[in-house]
This record gives sequence, C-alpha cells and structure tokens, in this order.
Amino acid sequence: MILIEGALLVLAISAIIAALNIWQSSADKNMAGGCQATLVIGRSAEGIPIEACQLNGSDPQAGNVLLVVGSIHGDEPDGKRVVDALLSNVAPVGSNIWLIRDGNPDGALLGTRRNANEVDINRNFPVKWLASDPAARTYSGPSPASEPETIALMSAVEKIAPTQIVVFHQPYELIDCPPERPSTISDRLSQLTGYKSECIPGEKSGSPTNSYTGTFTIWVNSTFPNATAVTFELGQTTMDAKITTISQALRVLAVEKAYLP
Ligand SMILES: [Zn+2]
Repeated sequence: MILIEGALLVLAISAIIAALNIWQSSADKNMAGGCQATLVIGRSAEGIPIEACQLNGSDPQAGNVLLVVGSIHGDEPDGKRVVDALLSNVAPVGSNIWLIRDGNPDGALLGTRRNANEVDINRNFPVKWLASDPAARTYSGPSPASEPETIALMSAVEKIAPTQIVVFHQPYELIDCPPERPSTISDRLSQLTGYKSECIPGEKSGSPTNSYTGTFTIWVNSTFPNATAVTFELGQTTMDAKITTISQALRVLAVEKAYLP
C-alpha cells in the first residue's frame, strides 16, 4: 500500500513538473527576445566586459543594420530601459538589430557621467577632439580615444557595420539632428514617438556656435559614409509607456530603408 501511494506521489510530481515545463516553454515563446549572438567589444577601465547583442530573429542579410546604444553617460540610465524593452521580443522580419545596453558600466556603478578615469566618453572620440580641463564634467581625456570604453564602441561600429545608430542620452527630451547629415532620421523618429526633432543648440554642423567636440555621433558620421548616428535625448524621467513607444518606433525604423546620407 505504501509502495502504491509512493508511486502515485511520483506520478503526481511528474505531472506537475511536466505542466510547469509546458508553461515555461509557452512563456519562452511569448518572451522570445534575448540575443542570438553576443560580442564582447571591450572592457571598461575597471575591467567590466562591454557587450554587443544581436537581437534574436535578426537577419544577418538585412540591408539595414540598426545599432542601439542604451547609455554612454553613467548618470543617464533610461536608454537601457529602451534596450530592455527591445530585448523582450524577437527582431521584426527583415531586420538586423544590435544592442549595446551599457557603453559605460563603470560610470553606471559610480552614478557619474564620466568613466572610472573621470573622462567623458562622449568627448573622447578621435574626430574634432579638443583638449579640455580635467576638472570639467566633460573632460575629453589625455588624448583622442584614450579610454577603453571609447575604443570598445569604435570597435563595435567597425565590426557590426550599422547603417543606423541611435544612442540615448538625457535629459533634453528631444531627438537631436545628426551631425554631418540631414535630419530625415530624426524627423521620422519624431513622427513615430512624438518627441520633437530639434538640434541641440550648436549641434548643427557648420553652426558658428557648434560647441561639441569628440562625440560618438560626430565620429561615426564623419568616418562611415554609409552610417547615420543620431542622439535621442530622453527626459529627466520617462514613463514606461513612452519607453514602449520608443522601442516600437525603433522596430519600425529597423525594417525601413536605411536613412543614408
Ligand atoms: Zn549624455
């Protein structure tokens, strides 16, 4: 009798485990995002790996390659929420989406704009680099591309060869005009998200008030004729619904014809 009860118990437990497995696999189907390939593109000054992820379902043959960078400044974390939203679903058919969730993990841990060497990565790129005061929050570093995070992002762009790059910052709540490019991509993102398409003062190339030096977008757009990089400025705070809207807009952008110069 005890043996039969034991056998029934084993059967009951097996049935529960099987049911849980079915539930788990259907959950996986609904949340089928994640990465189909991961590249370690470099390490931070403190040795934290910086990774690029190719979203599951991406088509390596797609003509348009979208790269999304969640964060470069450690105290501007909300773009990582957009990346997380993108990671919760497979890439749309005919798209190739790459994600760098965090380009400055040391800054994120420290809660600072700059990296662990107190350099502003977004002033350290080697086009229009300008020496600056080490005490400044936008310190450009001892020399162009002196920082491992800068080199990691450069190597990612060289390896992934994106046609479109959207990099998130805060807090101006607008889509900046891409340096050296028409604002077509910003206008399209504006249409899809409701954020205004507007040059951050001085960003427009040739502007006499242009104050930006050594930024990621200046480097990409000056170096790669087939790529357009644009800065998306989230606000100080962003509701979850807006994050979802932006992630959906990026999915639309990813399947559209690339906004080439
Ligand atoms: Zn920023």
